[in-house]
Amino acid sequence: MQTIRMHPVDLTSTPTTSSTSEDGSAPFVLVLGTTQDGGHPQIGCKLECCHGHGQQDRQLIASLAIVDPRSGERWLVDASPDLPEQLRDLEDCCPRSQEQATLDGIFLTHAHIGHYTGLMYLGREALGSRGTPVWAMPDMRRFLRENGPWSQLVDLQNIHLMALDDGEVVQLNDRLSLQPFLVPHRAEFSETVGFLIRGPARAVAWLPDIDQWGRWSRPVEELVQEVDLALLDGTFYRRDELERDMNEVPHPLIVESMDRLAALPDQVRAGVRFIHFNHTNPALREDSEATQAIRARGFGLARRGDRFSLC
Ligand SMILES: [Zn+2]
Ligand SMILES: [Zn+2]
Repeated sequence: MQTIRMHPVDLTSTPTTSSTSEDGSAPFVLVLGTTQDGGHPQIGCKLECCHGHGQQDRQLIASLAIVDPRSGERWLVDASPDLPEQLRDLEDCCPRSQEQATLDGIFLTHAHIGHYTGLMYLGREALGSRGTPVWAMPDMRRFLRENGPWSQLVDLQNIHLMALDDGEVVQLNDRLSLQPFLVPHRAEFSETVGFLIRGPARAVAWLPDIDQWGRWSRPVEELVQEVDLALLDGTFYRRDELERDMNEVPHPLIVESMDRLAALPDQVRAGVRFIHFNHTNPALREDSEATQAIRARGFGLARRGDRFSLC
């Protein structure tokens, strides 16, 4: 098993850093995976990006945990098909006894395979969870309720569907909250949201999927300035990356996002970390020119095991 790195985010230039983040009881988010829905290496890919990569170099699909060490509570943001391995990472980071529920809840962004199919492991074939709260938007809830095998999780009460509404804050406990916001993204089965996660002193944005910044009613500049860490859609690095028509799977390119956000202050750009990398994205590799270029322009990349204090 790959050893995950547990280091505080390097936001030393950010004035919101406070000493309480060091005391061990500070709530935090933990990056559990960073790739687009198909993972890396990707099925059927014979190109250089995946060729020769085996299980040992596998990178996990984008997902985030929210942890409050004081209460011992743990929530998941998106349920990826890599859920079993990701729960092991979470367990290594903040163990729980066998008697305790595995999770205090799961927040889903949308019905694309990388973001909800991990729910299958909550059923009787695997974990057999009891009443795990799963928060989702109206279309997403309907999708789970009305389609097997997900409907069985609802019927057997492995999961308990909880309502999310655009802009409505969900209070996780007395010091953590989460707020969904709708974004434009291919809506075959459900709407798509991003999340604002707020702790005692810091806030994090989770936005792994959006069609284009220009199609969104809200300027992304506003979002990244509102939070201390923005985990943003970095699916593709640049335009020529896919052999098929990239208009079928629209995403803001990392190079475009960097141009758009280039004029923001250093400390704001340092809080922007790209995530949700397609298997073709050179930013997956630490030694690539793309990764170096992203860092040189003052932006960051999310990596499995990254941990960000919310104090
Ligand atoms: Zn996705
Ligand atoms: Zn998607």
